[in-house]
Order: sequence, then structure tokens, then C-alpha cells
Amino acid sequence: MSGLWYTEKQTDNFGITMKIKKTLHTEQTDFQYLEMAETEEWGNMLFLDGMVMTSQKDEFVYHEMVAHVPLFTHPNPENVLVVGGGDGGVIREVLKHPSVKKAVLVDIDGKVIEYSKKYLPEIAGELENERVDVQVGDGFMHIAKSENEYDVIMVDSTEPVGPAVNLFTKGFYAGISKALKEDGIFVAQCDNPWFKADLIRQVQKDVKEIFPITRLYTANIPTYPSGMWAFTIGSKKYDPTDVPAERFHEIETKYYTKELHNAAFILPKFVKDLTE
Ligand code: SAM
Repeated sequence: MSGLWYTEKQTDNFGITMKIKKTLHTEQTDFQYLEMAETEEWGNMLFLDGMVMTSQKDEFVYHEMVAHVPLFTHPNPENVLVVGGGDGGVIREVLKHPSVKKAVLVDIDGKVIEYSKKYLPEIAGELENERVDVQVGDGFMHIAKSENEYDVIMVDSTEPVGPAVNLFTKGFYAGISKALKEDGIFVAQCDNPWFKADLIRQVQKDVKEIFPITRLYTANIPTYPSGMWAFTIGSKKYDPTDVPAERFHEIETKYYTKELHNAAFILPKFVKDLTE
């Protein structure tokens, strides 16, 4: 579909559109419709069920903000789980923390992993790292059979539709709490406050009932609906808005900084209202 425009409808009445240079791969997998295309503006881009997942040009924002906020909040994260995240970007960021001994990735769709390795090598390149254990399976089932195992769990799933619908339920968050150690931390992408305010309100409410410390933070992701993306963090012991300065060791990033870590929790009034 070169020269054509690809539109992602973000609501029934609004969307973003981008010029496609070349279609790289399309396939109906067992779980979703996978498209990989080279775009004029954003480089190679992965779409699932017509939704932008990640692009070579802006992927670092999301992957750094999902990984480094919880990993700098925890004083010694060693065992990490990523649910979803088959493009490998979160895993790449997790491995920048020398304390991490093992990072497990559980994505339900092996085709996402396969084609991310092929067309998004700078994002998926660390999936073969010796500290990484890649499993193809349902994150909901993995959590159900895990107990007191992980220091940090990151849910990098698609929207709450299709295979990911169970990953936004209170039962899943309760399972995450069980799978975490007694001082564990969990973070999940929870879409955007402009079009999915009700989802954010519900996720915050559910997580608050399970984790003593629950916060919301945002980041600017131009290829995601509305450009303002939200993340819910639930913590059993450590407050992500109160991280001692000495904990921020040097790592190579393009978006995340220790100042931004703290600033990301300062919310516009209409977003803050969703957390109350
Ligand atoms: N950053 C993207 C976003 O915010 O929408 C998510 C990217 S990542 C590619 C999303 C992944 O979640 C997909 O690879 C999909 O296969 C995976 N996924 C969806 N439901 C899942 C489930 N129940 N268990 C594990 N992985 C799941």
C-alpha cells in the first residue's frame, strides 16, 4: 500500500492518518490482525487490529516510561515480568538495569515477536539476551500460576479488547499482587485521558483497592491516540513519587530523566480528577 494513507480511527469520529512508503507484512494471526509497514514519517511501524503499536521513530518514549519509572522506584529489582511487549522494547529498557537478573516476557502471539525481530531489530534486539526468558502464552494464565516471584511486573498489552480484555480486570490486578514479592511494584499502560477517561478511572479504582500506593503518570507519545498516554503504577511499599536521589544511576535514554520521572506524576486537573 505504498503512497496510500493509513488511518487509525481513535474514536468513531476522529483518527490519525499517515503516509505509507511500503507494506512489509500483513497476516491474520490466531489472535489479531498484524500489519507491519514502512511509513514516511515514523519509520517502520507495527499495527495490531488497526491500532498503532510502536514505531521506530517514537518507540523510545513509551518503552522508557514503562520500564524506568518502576525500576528506579524499586531499590533492587532482580526478577521482572513483562506481560505482552512482544516488540521487545520494554525488555530492551529493563536490561539497562544491572540489578535485573532475569526478565520474563509472556506475549500471547509469537508472530508479533517474529515480525518485530525481522522489521524492528533496534526494538526487538534484546529478546535473545541471556537474561531474558521469552514465553509465548496468555499473560492472564501466567499470572494465575505465579506467586511471590517478581519484584516488578509491567503490563505492556494491547487495548482492553480481544486477547487483552482480561488484562484490565480487578481479578488480574489481584493476581499480579499475588505474583509480586511483598515489596513488589506493578505498572500498566492504561490508554489516554482524552478518549478513555472511564477506563482510567476504573483501572485506578481497581488498583487502589489492591495496592496501598497507586499513582498515575503520563508521557507524550505522538503516534498514540490523543498523544497523551497514561500509566497506572501500583506499589506495595515504595512510592514512585518519593524516590531517593541516590537511587537514580546513570543509564542511556532519550526521553526518561530523573527530573521527568517526578514531573510525569504532575497531572493536568482533568486527568488528576480521574484518580480521585
Ligand atoms: N505499546 C503498545 C500499546 O500501548 O498498545 C503495546 C505493544 S505490545 C505489541 C502489545 C502486545 O500485547 C501484543 O504483542 C499482544 O500480542 C499482547 N497481548 C495481548 N493480549 C495478551 C495476553 N492476554 N497475554 C499476553 N500478551 C497479550
